[in-house]
Amino acid sequence: MYTDRIPKAAKKNEEYLRSDEMRKIKLPPAQPARKHALSIKQALADEDLKAASLACNALAADLAKAYKIKAPPIRVLSVRPREETEDWVVETFGDYDPNTQRIRLWMRTAIKKKATSYGTFLSTLIHEFCHHLDMVALEMPHSYHTRGFFERTALIYHHVQNTPVRKIVWKEHKDGTFTVDWAATMRK
Ligand SMILES: [Zn+2]
Repeated sequence: MYTDRIPKAAKKNEEYLRSDEMRKIKLPPAQPARKHALSIKQALADEDLKAASLACNALAADLAKAYKIKAPPIRVLSVRPREETEDWVVETFGDYDPNTQRIRLWMRTAIKKKATSYGTFLSTLIHEFCHHLDMVALEMPHSYHTRGFFERTALIYHHVQNTPVRKIVWKEHKDGTFTVDWAATMRK
């Protein structure tokens, strides 16, 4: 996880710092969110695209209800289209369109057409949902990837998955951005 570069323009800078400082978020009720997460896990194991789509939308609707916002429609797709340039390949597992407020998630990786793991898939769903939450509820229209953004995302992810939250240890770079120090984080 890499944080975005800190914008210089005053208004964007203010939004960035506000997001960075917001390390906590109110959590939704454990149920039925955890039940929906288990349905997603089962759908991935069965490679059932329709069931995955139903479960993802049920989870998004439940989370949206907790935050009193409109649920972002989720489209679950099969194989991620491969984006390629001459010397690198970009591959992500989901995206969020701020204009339509839709989330797209892919069940399979482009290169080996391997099924996306449950952990990666669920964390992508929550990541994209948090962009939606930033934009529609927290007055953060740019929804920067800040330490706060990643920590809020992790809190919701672990709550929904019912797994323990680790305190993230950040490593600062010269340009003021951060990456997760995984070794130190896992030692905690
Ligand atoms: Zn993102």
